[in-house]
Amino acid sequence: MQKVKNFINGNYVDPIKGKYIDNVEPGTGKVFSQIPNSTQEDLEEAIKAAKIAFPVWSTMSVDKRSRILHKLADLIETNLDDFALMESRDNGKPLWLAKAVDIPRASTNFRFYASAIVNFSTEAQVSEGFMVNYTRRAPIGIVGCISPWNLPLYLFSWKIAPALAMGNCVVAKPSELTPMTAFLLGRLANEAGMPPGVLNILHGEGKGIGQAIVEHKSTKAISFTGGTATGKIVGATASQQFKKVSLELGGKNPNIIFADCDLDEAAKTSVKSSFTNQGEICLCGSRILIEDSIYEKFKTKFLEECRKLIVGDPMDTNSNLGALVSEEHLNKVDSYVRLALEEGGTILHGGKRIEKEGYYYEPTVIEGLDEHCRTNMEEIFGPVVTLNRFQSEEEAIDIANSTRYGLSCTLWTSDLKRAHRVSHAVQSGIIWVNCWLIRDLRTPFGGMKDSGIGREGGNEALRFFSEAQNVCIKL
Ligand code: NAP
Repeated sequence: MQKVKNFINGNYVDPIKGKYIDNVEPGTGKVFSQIPNSTQEDLEEAIKAAKIAFPVWSTMSVDKRSRILHKLADLIETNLDDFALMESRDNGKPLWLAKAVDIPRASTNFRFYASAIVNFSTEAQVSEGFMVNYTRRAPIGIVGCISPWNLPLYLFSWKIAPALAMGNCVVAKPSELTPMTAFLLGRLANEAGMPPGVLNILHGEGKGIGQAIVEHKSTKAISFTGGTATGKIVGATASQQFKKVSLELGGKNPNIIFADCDLDEAAKTSVKSSFTNQGEICLCGSRILIEDSIYEKFKTKFLEECRKLIVGDPMDTNSNLGALVSEEHLNKVDSYVRLALEEGGTILHGGKRIEKEGYYYEPTVIEGLDEHCRTNMEEIFGPVVTLNRFQSEEEAIDIANSTRYGLSCTLWTSDLKRAHRVSHAVQSGIIWVNCWLIRDLRTPFGGMKDSGIGREGGNEALRFFSEAQNVCIKL
């Protein structure tokens, strides 16, 4: 059985206390690797290495840093098959999806920030004849990056790429449920020529090593992606030491279908936005709001598409959905389906675990619920969507905004004015109009309300991972 190691100071090392956790493959339900259950002692080693590396990395020319990150992107592409296989075995997602989306996008994250840092400029203000101000942006030092299990390498790289590009050293922790791709990354960082200590990767439990990274006085900024409840703890802990903190949290995203939309396209894409990656994407739409006049028509088309979905072995190219990430998560998803029944919902499709080894769940469609019931308010983060009716644009906006979350929203309409109007009224960090999950990495990314604080993406991330200093010169 494979034993994962921590990556500290450019070396793969065992955890100092020698403790390990089993890592289960969701597709089979069997243990396939063991990961370090890292402790404070391991963190101190990582911090020591990062402190030594910081003066080297932060003063290296931007051009050289950029080349190293480009090289890392190249190496991920060269090793695409290995990464995709590990991502799929770790997470349960179909192998084809990891190959086509997750791993290429992770490589793109490094490539994007390798280029962005070369083009990054700061501001200057000139008061003619009186003074000049310019803003210096300096790396912060050692930063902590903590990521979840749903898009393991993609979200891991989404944080560490801008942090490294800006000249910081990183101590990062992937989810204990999906450690394998982060484990592979260390070797490639060395091959790319990254100096030892610049990137350190610690494995283990969130409440243990994750919390320790956030608490450590030497981590000056924390970039966290995960659930809202955990984000609250991370934010509270980081604020005790006035650390910069970025929180990308949960969602309960509305998918609004107006009667004037392209119905075929809306139904097909809504199936994708509901069930891609088993519904385990923070940007999946989980509340479908349908204008009353086309409710039945949309429902028929949507269910037709749902019936075509195959849930199966992640290694099988025919599987549209693979396994949920863990038994615990599957039980959580199932408990919400039971709750929906108690709350008066009717299951139109799916609704139960698939009886075979591993953690497979049917794509599930529920109707007949009150828009404000718990099933419609709380994040399920699995292959479960609800169908809901609305009578007017105002009502659609009200329902869309009725949860504590504000991460993303999808609108389907052919009315340009309405598209703008509704986009501006819905409290969401991202609005997709007549499409879903298209991303331009230059745009700011993040949620409103309890879906997070701060924005990642593009120059926002480079600004987050830097200290701004104003220099004022009297003329
Ligand atoms: P999670 O339980 O909050 O965990 C996220 C990460 O935080 C994991 O690495 C976890 O480690 C670690 N962690 C747990 N407790 C911690 C603590 N006290 N201090 C520091 N780190 C701690 O979330 P998840 O279940 O992995 O991910 C699913 C959630 O992420 C969903 O709510 C989803 O919406 C959200 N998400 C949001 C975005 C976005 O961009 N807004 C993107 C993807 C996912 P362990 O794994 O070891 O517990």
